Amino acid sequence: MKTKQPIDAFARDLPREVRESVYVSSKAKYDKRLDSLNQSYTAPDSIRKLAGQIKQHTLENLPTYLGSAVEQLEKNGAKVHFAKDGQEANETILEIMRGVGATKLIKSKSMVSEEIHLNPFLEKHGCESIESDLGEFIVQLDNDMPSHIVTPIVHKNRKQIATTFQKAGIGEDYNDDPQTITRRARSFLRQKYIEAEVGLTGGNFVSAESGRIALVTNEGNARFSISANKTHIALIGIEKVVPSDKDMAVLLNLLARSATGQQLTVYTQFINGPKAAKQPDGPENMHVIFLDNERSNILGSEFKEILRCIRCGACLNVCPIYRQSSGHAYRAVYPGPVGAVLSPLLAGKKYPDYADLPKASSLCGACNEVCPVDIPLPELLLRHRNKAKQEGIKKASAGTPSMAGWSVLCSSPAMWKTSLRAGKAMDYISLNLIPVPAVQAWAKERTLPPFRGGKFRQWFKEHKRNKEA
Ligand code: SF4
Repeated sequence: MKTKQPIDAFARDLPREVRESVYVSSKAKYDKRLDSLNQSYTAPDSIRKLAGQIKQHTLENLPTYLGSAVEQLEKNGAKVHFAKDGQEANETILEIMRGVGATKLIKSKSMVSEEIHLNPFLEKHGCESIESDLGEFIVQLDNDMPSHIVTPIVHKNRKQIATTFQKAGIGEDYNDDPQTITRRARSFLRQKYIEAEVGLTGGNFVSAESGRIALVTNEGNARFSISANKTHIALIGIEKVVPSDKDMAVLLNLLARSATGQQLTVYTQFINGPKAAKQPDGPENMHVIFLDNERSNILGSEFKEILRCIRCGACLNVCPIYRQSSGHAYRAVYPGPVGAVLSPLLAGKKYPDYADLPKASSLCGACNEVCPVDIPLPELLLRHRNKAKQEGIKKASAGTPSMAGWSVLCSSPAMWKTSLRAGKAMDYISLNLIPVPAVQAWAKERTLPPFRGGKFRQWFKEHKRNKEA
């Protein structure tokens, strides 16, 4: 799905069932996260702070830790590549495939591969690239985009998925029973695992101490993707390095709890390198591609804290804007608060195209409270707004009221009282009937909620009266 609309306009037109399904799923994940953290730790906030410090320390010493990760990986038998951008990463993958005479690749869930648009690139070059994560597989069949970092099809219901399967000829008939859908996907994908010649994974963390790569899934598809192939490619952002295996343990504990409320994901896999001579199976070649794609620039900027992100999705689940608008509203691979900070930065020269995203926030601070690595997301959103202003980037959204006007209104009690009365009247008047261009532009992209103002003044008067009586 592609959209050029600002978030608020996209949210306004979102079908009710999509909004409900995003809201229900986000809230359920948020509640599970809270229970899981409180059951496991007496002071969940202190482990969150510790994780933030580990990641921040790594970022501040990234060249050192990246260097030792490369050394260890090579010692373990992996070949390490660096890609400065998506194009270079895609070309490296294609070159590796051609080098082993492969045209079929199977892929476990990897947001970085979404970021570089790997599937269309490989298809353009005559190679098959199949998603093995069930949600990503459905997204691929539908030619859609993930709408959540962890649960890519949170915007779809089982009827839509059954129709997708029917259209793709997976299974004999239409069937929207979830178990049948899963069984059909499984038997389709089993064949693809066997046929593939190369398996591609991401990497949740890489230990600089041992070169060990941690991979987490709930479906076991990362194992399947690499165990039947002779070649394994791990595509990893440079920021995924951590100093030691011990640090990796802290982050793994927080990742599962923050993402899905589990103590650990069902499959947590540690890859040391290609198969050893004594091992009966596993990939004979292992390539690790470290992707930069603007990350070095981010590291040297006022937004560097965003590179602590471990892609748990907790900030999406708690965000009132994400819950109302869904991930597609953010027009990029990374949605929600993390996406509002990261997507404009990853866009490089196209920064202005995404400069409206940081404005889609009430700055309530909930995203920072849930973030397992304590990223100051509201602060970063404000820095973006400031940057856009300093660089004279025009508002993407028409009709945004000026803060100067708002300040005048709030500074005058008489004007404020009058505006409250006018606000009440707005419940009965359509904004489209007001012949003021700014109001019309505003109303084109937004809906006004029912007026609830004036309640405090009423309460205050009554309270004063009761006190005096
Ligand atoms: S910014 Fe924090 S909460 Fe959001 S996805 Fe990244 S780690 Fe998770």
